[in-house]
Amino acid sequence: MESIVRRTAIPGPRSQAILARKEAVVPAALSVHVPAVIASAEGALVTDVDGNTFIDMSGGIGCLNVGHSAPAVRAAMHAQVDLFSHTDFTVIPYEPYVELAERLVALAPGAGPKKAAFFNSGAEAIENAVKFARAHTGRPGLVAFSGAFHGRTLLAMTLTSKTHPYKAGFGPFAPEVHRAPYPYIYRAPAGVSAAEHGLACADELERMFTTHVAAESVAAVILEPVQGEGGFVVPPPEFLRRVQEICRAHEIVLIADEVQTGFGRTGRFFASEHSGLEPDLLVVAKSMAAGMPLSGVIGRADIMDAPGDSAIGGTYVGNPVACAAGLAVVEEIGRQGLLARAERVGAHIRRRFLDLQERFPQVGDVRGVGAMMAMELVEDRRTKAPARDLTGRVLTRAVQEGAIFLRAGIYGNVIRVLVPLVITEAQIDEAVDVLDRALQAESGR
Ligand code: PLP
Repeated sequence: MESIVRRTAIPGPRSQAILARKEAVVPAALSVHVPAVIASAEGALVTDVDGNTFIDMSGGIGCLNVGHSAPAVRAAMHAQVDLFSHTDFTVIPYEPYVELAERLVALAPGAGPKKAAFFNSGAEAIENAVKFARAHTGRPGLVAFSGAFHGRTLLAMTLTSKTHPYKAGFGPFAPEVHRAPYPYIYRAPAGVSAAEHGLACADELERMFTTHVAAESVAAVILEPVQGEGGFVVPPPEFLRRVQEICRAHEIVLIADEVQTGFGRTGRFFASEHSGLEPDLLVVAKSMAAGMPLSGVIGRADIMDAPGDSAIGGTYVGNPVACAAGLAVVEEIGRQGLLARAERVGAHIRRRFLDLQERFPQVGDVRGVGAMMAMELVEDRRTKAPARDLTGRVLTRAVQEGAIFLRAGIYGNVIRVLVPLVITEAQIDEAVDVLDRALQAESGR
């Protein structure tokens, strides 16, 4: 049985009416990817106010690893709402926060005592990770990588690499941020192995301590173990391990931004585990609480304890309803075996994408880890010129036909999958069939 239901053209009349109201009162910058207004969602399916049902391969930009409206998460949130919904944890503490911290410090890679602090958004957690690192080291400097995305607040935006649409026109930026190269195997110089390319990038980081900024002035190096917005760029493990060695040698805090990769997306609870990375601080958000605004920093207790009394916090941080959702998410990942499921979902998508790559010369690269899968579209496989416009047209057509895929990539030419891990194989096939037809129609074949 098909999951996609088409009752109207997209947008239908009810969506159109609400979108017209939106135009009048919501800033233009908050443009929408799917021109249809949601009424309800379950698992990997989203139904709009006109009765059209879409397969959601975007999962709210990777927030819904346990699926839309997961019954256990809903129940946990309802139960908490009926007790209390806010105190400010630093005014009156509550157990769900403490329990979630206990669960996450046990799950985070690395030996030794760890602690966790919660915030609202990924960007806010990034900002706070930097505060912990600066308080611990007494140093100002930060190193981030080409292609990185760490959020939209001033410091997180500064750490972010891509200029349009994230940075252009929004300067001046925060000081003390230095940029090192991140390995991009598909676009590496010809004849260089993945490991060599990764190690060359790590060497460049080391060289920066002579040419750009003294190592003893650097508080933290911050990286995504697999780049998300940057285009699902998977670095060779040699790169990650070498960066860790460099950080240890210079007593620089290594921050892993697992906002997009965490909570089972890549087939491990944290993507750092794939390469044996043991970050000093690990930043989480997105799928952590199934779409509730909750983020966190988990890390070495000595670093987490460095800021002084009341130096870390915020009115809403670690909201009790969000923490209850977070606890239910951790339970569900275990109960439903979602780590193994991520591997199977990813393997299925990879097979389907590799088939597309065989049939469409525009599919230049298929890559990913676990269920974090993507394909990069190019004008020409030899020059690898990014096919940005084609990517937009394919995505738009796929939405019209009922499958929601997202764009990513430093050049805007990557189609990425952040699907709820509870999706069925039949739904994956249906969604990829839509993508297949969109590629056929838009690539002129
Ligand atoms: N870090 C990474 C790796 C992300 O993918 C994102 C969001 O996409 C962020 C940080 C920022 O998170 P938020 O949008 O919750 O501020």
